[in-house]
Amino acid sequence: MKKHNFSAGPCILPQEVLLKASEAVVDFNNSGLSLIEISHRSKPFIEVMDTATALALELLGLEGKGYKALFLQGGASTQFLMTAYNLLETKAGYLNTGTWAAKSLKEAKLFGEVVEVASSKDANYNYIPKGYSVPSDLDYFHCTSNNTIFGTQIKDFPTSPVPMVCDMSSDIFSRTLDFSKFDLIYAGAQKNMGPAGTTLVVIKEDLLGKVTRAIPSMLDYKNFIEKDSMFNTPPVFAVYTSMLTLQWLKDLGGIAAIEKENEKKAKLIYSEIDLNPLFKGFAATEDRSTMNATFNLVDEKLKDTFDEMAKEAGMNGINGHRSVGGYRASMYNALPYTSVAALVEVMSELERKA
Ligand code: PMP
Repeated sequence: MKKHNFSAGPCILPQEVLLKASEAVVDFNNSGLSLIEISHRSKPFIEVMDTATALALELLGLEGKGYKALFLQGGASTQFLMTAYNLLETKAGYLNTGTWAAKSLKEAKLFGEVVEVASSKDANYNYIPKGYSVPSDLDYFHCTSNNTIFGTQIKDFPTSPVPMVCDMSSDIFSRTLDFSKFDLIYAGAQKNMGPAGTTLVVIKEDLLGKVTRAIPSMLDYKNFIEKDSMFNTPPVFAVYTSMLTLQWLKDLGGIAAIEKENEKKAKLIYSEIDLNPLFKGFAATEDRSTMNATFNLVDEKLKDTFDEMAKEAGMNGINGHRSVGGYRASMYNALPYTSVAALVEVMSELERKA
């Protein structure tokens, strides 16, 4: 039986994507060869890369607007340093909204002056800072759209007088935004896109060429732009599976369609968290993430009972991150509404029993 997979990442992918990806590993498009044993320079794989990058731009509404989509390696964590390596000449501004944001800020400090524009560290990152303004003397401003660990999400992005860079690892392709507000977006594939092993980077080409330092080839966006993500051997399986997921999303009706589903799922879990006296939410109500719902038991003594009931009901991956404790239900694009309904049922069952 398929479990209700609330894992924070790697996480649930559409079943049909898993099936198609596994078929391609054995025999890619009836070619008599596996996807992972053909040359990345072969026509069939170049087509995969072209389709994946075109779908990414199309879904984000960025085609024809001067952006290039790249599939790179090294995870979002490599983007923490790569963005700074390529863009930070003197000073950059960072919004500190969680563990990952803090890590990106730490890496940037290796390359120049970094200003923390605002932070919610004072309250263990349970809210998104507001009312700050982005200084105009920065090379760029960096923010994290969704804080996977704490379950907060930026609803209103600031108007930035400087290029805006955003880590969208845990909510890309989940909600409609004006993506052209951003000059560089990056996201590890392993949430809403595919398996771990590739990172999507969507970059406005005119952003580059402004730093004076020498950049090692493998960390220079220009090389990957020039070679259509094939400066070296790309992670073919991760790119192919991402392509399948993006195709799946397009067939569903794109981001606008999945956003409606995501809102329904979020509404369901948060109303249970608010109405059930045994639970309390972690994140500030107005900043609650539609992707990761974080909550705790009011009485920790019920933990063993709840954990056992959740396990019995086939729940996977609902334990909170160690820095928050409690529970985290990650509800990425491929998680069905019925899984959230099943979790909510366990929560109400606990209330009936207690
Ligand atoms: N940023 C965010 C928002 C994340 O959630 C994560 C991983 N969970 C990362 C960055 C790091 O990603 P990776 O493991 O791909 O380096």
